[in-house]
Amino acid sequence: MQEFCFNCDYEKELQPKREPVTITVRGEPISATKEFYQCPNCGHAFTSSLGHDALDEAYREYRRRHGMLQPEEIRNWRTQYGLTQSELSTLLGWLDPSLSKYENGALQEETQDTLLKFAMEPINLLQLIKRKPEAVALDKRARLIEQLSSNQSLAKHLEYLYAAYWGNGTAISSEKKLDFEKKDFLIKQLQILRPISNSQFA
Ligand SMILES: [Zn+2]
Repeated sequence: MQEFCFNCDYEKELQPKREPVTITVRGEPISATKEFYQCPNCGHAFTSSLGHDALDEAYREYRRRHGMLQPEEIRNWRTQYGLTQSELSTLLGWLDPSLSKYENGALQEETQDTLLKFAMEPINLLQLIKRKPEAVALDKRARLIEQLSSNQSLAKHLEYLYAAYWGNGTAISSEKKLDFEKKDFLIKQLQILRPISNSQFA
């Protein structure tokens, strides 16, 4: 709460205000809410420290409209693998602090968003690490390659199991319909594998 006005020396608490505002993001008008303090004496408006940022709100809406990644999605994905911003930047071939900026709310370009989504596929991240092994610390690299490789084989296994169970894939031909015992086994396998697989995209 701002205690006084810098403009007219009014010495009582300033009033918190909320006002609708239209912010143009890359040529697209987006409605947001602006929060600020206003001096009841001189009317001067001061930037809010209420924790709400209209530009941030507009960027979030823009990303939502265009199916782009939100800052926390990028950060959560990166930290899930224990990668530092610098390591991931090197893997992506980004030499500037772009990644840090995006994780902190800057609006990414479409091309960078596409590259991030590409890298988010475990199989692609694995390839990026294999292509630039020096980008990742040695002990971490070994762990990640193992983790991503096993995820890959898990994913293949899962695909096979789904195909086998529903019989709509090419893994098992229709004449080899599964008997009850096998189905029961596969369901148990799917229950074990599903949370592992899903956690990759959480
Ligand atoms: Zn004032």
